[in-house]
Amino acid sequence: MHDIISILPDSVANQIAAGEVIQRPASAIKELLENAIDAGATSIEVFTRDSGKALIQVTDNGCGMSETDARMSFERHATSKIRAADDLLSIRTMGFRGEALASVAAIAQVEMKSKRHDDETGTFIVIEGSNVVSQQASACAAGTTISVKNLFFNVPARRNFLKSNTVEARHIIDEFQRAALAHPEIAFSLQQNGMDVFKLPSASLRQRIVALFGPASNDKLVPVGEETSLMKITGFIGKPEFAKKTRGEQFFFINNRFIRDGYLNHAVVNAFEELLPRDAFPSYFLHITMDPARIDINIHPTKTEVKFDDERSVYAIVRAAVKHALGQFSIAPSIDFDIEKSFEPHTSAAGGKSPVSSITSTPGIISPPSFLQKRAEQKEWRNVFEGIRNESMRDVFSQRETSSQQFINPEWNSELLAEDNRMLFQLHRKYIVSQVSSGLAIIDQQAAHYRILYEKYSRQMESKEVTAQQELFPQTLEFSSSDSEVLRELLPHLHALGFDLREFGKNSFVLNGTPQDVEQGKEQQTIERMLEQYKNNSPVKMSSRENLARSVAKNLSISAGKILSVREMKNIVDELFACSLPFQSPEGKPTVVVISDAELEEKFKA
Ligand code: ADP
Ligand code: MG
Repeated sequence: MHDIISILPDSVANQIAAGEVIQRPASAIKELLENAIDAGATSIEVFTRDSGKALIQVTDNGCGMSETDARMSFERHATSKIRAADDLLSIRTMGFRGEALASVAAIAQVEMKSKRHDDETGTFIVIEGSNVVSQQASACAAGTTISVKNLFFNVPARRNFLKSNTVEARHIIDEFQRAALAHPEIAFSLQQNGMDVFKLPSASLRQRIVALFGPASNDKLVPVGEETSLMKITGFIGKPEFAKKTRGEQFFFINNRFIRDGYLNHAVVNAFEELLPRDAFPSYFLHITMDPARIDINIHPTKTEVKFDDERSVYAIVRAAVKHALGQFSIAPSIDFDIEKSFEPHTSAAGGKSPVSSITSTPGIISPPSFLQKRAEQKEWRNVFEGIRNESMRDVFSQRETSSQQFINPEWNSELLAEDNRMLFQLHRKYIVSQVSSGLAIIDQQAAHYRILYEKYSRQMESKEVTAQQELFPQTLEFSSSDSEVLRELLPHLHALGFDLREFGKNSFVLNGTPQDVEQGKEQQTIERMLEQYKNNSPVKMSSRENLARSVAKNLSISAGKILSVREMKNIVDELFACSLPFQSPEGKPTVVVISDAELEEKFKA
């Protein structure tokens, strides 16, 4: 028997390692940007073609490399950033592994030109799939230019796995923005297919944020600054009233590297407390500086996750700094979030407590979570509702017992009874409560309306039927480059939905009309939020049409906190049960909870 173990050739080992580090063009850009930053560049230019699939080129004016270093830099575990194992302890914190260039060279055709500032000539190297094709002296500018062509040219499976140009371009813009926000002092530019996307001069953090997210962002920023013996935190948070409906502009940097950290995110959100509308995400751009020995960045191969040795203190400091900033700028909530107090129990004509007030004081009954545990019963109730849809809803919802009059706010009585015999009332500006044939139905107004609009918009996009529209005085809307990119791709779908939106210059669009559900004066905000949501939904899980239907529906759905007239409630109930899947929001959240008579009786037993 001969031996069967052999050492993998470098090219194969590098390809395997590359799988971990380079998933897509944006990951290559991230690594190249980091190297340019580490090289002390004050100006960094990025060019891409075909969203980085055909070409990624990063040019910096950093320290450059000697001939030998230029060749060495492509070796696995080649790094100038760790000298001895001793360094490892203090510097492992930065996540240097000497793997990035070797990985990129394993899966692409790479050309590098590099020259140190004091050298006469530089070096030009061509590498394909880990093989050096040529190396020669070259007259080039000081600094380094690396071109990565045809990423994954030798790994077709990975190449095929890449997403559409729009999706990949979005990832590139994300990485670019992170680097640009991590180092506002460095000038950055990004060109895609010959078009300028960003041209950012060296700036302060505030100027950099404004350059990336548009002039309107300037007024939304509140500065944060706190220093303790453990760490320093500086940067900006967005005013609560501008909080986004989805996670969007949230950036944490530790020692000038972008990181993702759920725990720190929680600290910020927690500091906002009730200042934030429900389901809203605050914007933040926060830089933390601390002794690298107290962090371990290497736990994730792409270095976006960290571990602190004193997590609790870091959490407390971040939270306090954000709270302090909010307090200093005495930001008062602009919306009335105090939904609880706004509900005044109605007293019945007889003077006794109405069923409504007894419900409000019996949390076990109205709180959906406890009720939701009773899935089996719910299922039974689904059947009741299925019946409603198929036959006469009116009967099930009709008012049959006089005692249940008490469910209704007396003021609504006449309108309600004239309208039809159904009783509806709103609970906590959040739920629509109605009697059903053998119990009580509680409808989550937001989830229900989301379902209704979602089905409506999905239908509209499918059939391309002409949509009812409200016309507007034409408005010019400005968007960030990344949003403009996405918008352009979505224009045909948006037209089908009733958004009469046309391109007008690079990042400008003209809006002539919107679907009728869009509140007047909130057009730009609506489109921005919808895009936010769209970008945050996973392209893996749904088509762009599905994603858009969800994003638009979610953003136009009435929110918790909105007072509804009886007519509005009635419309929601009617339309909900006309839906093909009325019992769940598109994301699977229940829209209706039913409490059966039997259950009520059980609760009232002695
Ligand atoms: P790491 O950054 O973890 O050290 P890389 O594979 O990214 O590993 O880079 C290997 C080495 O190549 C770096 O340590 C650095 O010495 C050199 N290098 C890479 N890019 C540049 C650049 N743009 N300018 C100067 N030196 C560079
Ligand atoms: Mg590197």
